[in-house]
Amino acid sequence: MARDTGAQCKQCRREGLKLFLKGERCLTDKCGIERRNYPPGEHGRGRARQSEYRVQLREKQKARRYYGVLERQFRTYYQHASRQAGVTGENLLRLLESRFDNVLVRLGFASSRRQARQMIRHGHWVINGRRVDIPSYQVRADDVITLKAGSKADQVIRDATELVSVVPAWLQADHDGLTAKVLRQPERDEIAAPVQEQLIVELYSK
Ligand code: SF4
Repeated sequence: MARDTGAQCKQCRREGLKLFLKGERCLTDKCGIERRNYPPGEHGRGRARQSEYRVQLREKQKARRYYGVLERQFRTYYQHASRQAGVTGENLLRLLESRFDNVLVRLGFASSRRQARQMIRHGHWVINGRRVDIPSYQVRADDVITLKAGSKADQVIRDATELVSVVPAWLQADHDGLTAKVLRQPERDEIAAPVQEQLIVELYSK
């Protein structure tokens, strides 16, 4: 399965903000942005030319990297969003936010999307009684998420729950029982991604 294996701190430095891709490390002073808050590469500290296209492109890259989605997958999400009723940019964010790997992070059951993806692929999670090993699975209202009986990821997940203080209102988490429920779809103001989705729509509409 194709996946993004690029250096994560470089991705944050390229976008100029913390994307929280490494879990607990992101909260320490070892964070790449804390140490070197300029773009990677030989010309990282030079002044970059800011064209409209460049701003839109960076916004798309930021969203893609934040959710850990590859280029082609991202475009597929956009095409799907543009066919849905409502505002395309919001639809796009809602689709990304409803990915199973992202939901585990929002619930506090994984410290990063990469960790969530690994746990999902290794079959540690069950939705509505059935094992789901697809990180891009779209959660729906009333889905019940549980840890597979006898899973050895138990301690890793409990450690992750200590990093999250607030679970968004569209989700319900039981950190003791390691179970959760999807109450409804997220509203735009409940999606904490640092993304201006309108810029992405402008980019793809060219
Ligand atoms: Fe980004 Fe985390 Fe690396 Fe900091 S530690 S630069 S937030 S991935």
